[in-house]
Amino acid sequence: MRLKNASVILWVVITAVAPTIAAEPATPALLVENIVPVDPVLGALSRQDVRIEHGRITAMGELPSDPDANTIDGSNRWLIPGLWDMHVHVTYDEALLDSMAKAFVDHGITRVRDTGGPVQALQQIATRWNAPTGDAPYLYYAGPLLDGNPVVYDGSVGPEVGVDVGTAAAARVAGLVAAGISFIKIYEMVSPEQFHALVQAARAHDLPIAAHIPLRMNVEVAATAVDSLEHLRNLELGCSNDRDQLLRERRKEMDQHEALAGMALRSRIHGQQRDQAIANEDASLCDTLIARLRDTIQVPTLRLNAMTQHPPFAEADWERALGFLPGHVARAWREAPRQMDPVTYRAHGAWSLAMIARLHRAGVPIGAGTDTPIGWAVPGHSLHRELELLVTAGLSPRVALAAATTVPASFFGMDATLGRLQPDYEADALILTANPLEDIRNTRRITHVIRQGRLLRKPLTDARP
Ligand SMILES: [Zn+2]
Repeated sequence: MRLKNASVILWVVITAVAPTIAAEPATPALLVENIVPVDPVLGALSRQDVRIEHGRITAMGELPSDPDANTIDGSNRWLIPGLWDMHVHVTYDEALLDSMAKAFVDHGITRVRDTGGPVQALQQIATRWNAPTGDAPYLYYAGPLLDGNPVVYDGSVGPEVGVDVGTAAAARVAGLVAAGISFIKIYEMVSPEQFHALVQAARAHDLPIAAHIPLRMNVEVAATAVDSLEHLRNLELGCSNDRDQLLRERRKEMDQHEALAGMALRSRIHGQQRDQAIANEDASLCDTLIARLRDTIQVPTLRLNAMTQHPPFAEADWERALGFLPGHVARAWREAPRQMDPVTYRAHGAWSLAMIARLHRAGVPIGAGTDTPIGWAVPGHSLHRELELLVTAGLSPRVALAAATTVPASFFGMDATLGRLQPDYEADALILTANPLEDIRNTRRITHVIRQGRLLRKPLTDARP
């Protein structure tokens, strides 16, 4: 019996280790000399050397030179952790799939969180992107939007990425776990019963939860039960002085929805209630709600919410950004100024910008996400735009940097090993030619991108802000 066990263990060790050795030549150590590390928690550190080996930062300080290491001169350079985009739909537009990985990497995005898409397709993309030799950001995915009845993304408008979980929340989540998901995304039409069943199922699998506040639910009950809220969606409904009346009206509307598809029903409710709730805000009620959100990351996607105030095509480098897209997509996106509705979302955009400073003052963690490629979001480029808008809205450049590094790591419970420039942390890092704490737009001035200790590009032409 003992012998049999020993042979089983040996077999496991051989099959686990042997293919890795065969497929993957050892990456040489990286030694970045004489650079200023900018840690999202501590800020700019003193000029020093940083050694990276086996995917990790192994030493920082005044280090001996090493003829066997790949040495990079960091004089007049700054080192920041690799950036995350916390809100991406990789599969949303098939025309972008082939160009996406390069666009992300060239913009210094080393990890992305896909917040809704077909799980099999995402699993296949993750297999390529997440391989040790992957020339792409590391992909974490939730699979479909877990929705109620009627489903918003049922395929009639936009891609079919939503599912009605019905009464099978636990089985649905278990199936997604088998397909490699790292978190779940709960959508707007679920009932309170479905919501709680999904939360319970996710917790049973130790999965973090991203969500929109479901329209049938009381805002703080839903907001405090999940780990991240996207787009500040429906938060304003909990701040209104007529919040209970609005909730009753929404429920009634949804119970009588027969004639309307999910997308149309949701739009109608947003149209009826959003601006009214913003206009009728009870500030002290809202502050009480905000104070309860200290454990819920807000991913505001300001570039989407505040598009009326800050349209993408008004950016100085918009034409350069379009160069990352396939030609026919770039041509279509040049029509954006004619297609954008300048009126409908104006109040919500202003409210979103003002809400960021308020949330930050109250100690609520803010995460950087873009909804790429929705709303003319060029992969990677849009994340830098988001960082810029977070600073415009009131975050310091250091806190904006944390929104794309330590905050997303904490969503996945990895904040002790990822997102900072400290010994033993995973080595996702970017070398910049200018200090991002002086101007957050300097995060665009990237020369080198390192993912899990491996140099993905060397060196990039110095990107101008
Ligand atoms: Zn989204």
